[in-house]
Amino acid sequence: MTASYDADNIFAKILLGDIPCHKVFEDENAIVFMDVMPQSVGHTLIVPKAESRNLLDADPSVLATVAPLLRRVAVAAKQAFGADGISVMQFNEAAGGQTVYHLHFHVIPRYEGVPLQAHGRGMEDHGVLAANAEKLRAALGATE
Ligand code: 5GP
Repeated sequence: MTASYDADNIFAKILLGDIPCHKVFEDENAIVFMDVMPQSVGHTLIVPKAESRNLLDADPSVLATVAPLLRRVAVAAKQAFGADGISVMQFNEAAGGQTVYHLHFHVIPRYEGVPLQAHGRGMEDHGVLAANAEKLRAALGATE
């Protein structure tokens, strides 16, 4: 049986503004912010506002709004962080590597010969996250 959405998750609290984040962009469909435990410089999360636990219960219409934003953020992140490539990741359920149960996509800048750091390792310095959010915001040409 597929588990249902539980609003008591950290990204729901960020969406409500109850918990702060290093925000890059927000529109009516999604919010984009820096991952606090980046696996690479500029690791960014795209979080649709609609409630769904993960891809398995997501409304296809939500995915249709996220895909163009995903591409936009990937292109901007490659430029902003001088990356050689971008990994897009998305995890479903604990066995699939998911730790936060609100649908989200990882945009991770990659560099030739540099392996990814471990998923969910230590917290990045907030000054670094703020500076990276600013770089990505500038590359996106987003205004807040
Ligand atoms: P998942 O394994 O669910 O795809 O990944 C969840 C991601 O959320 C992890 O990469 C983790 O570092 C990140 N994360 C967990 N808690 C917070 C938080 O409070 N703020 C932010 N910005 N990222 C978080």
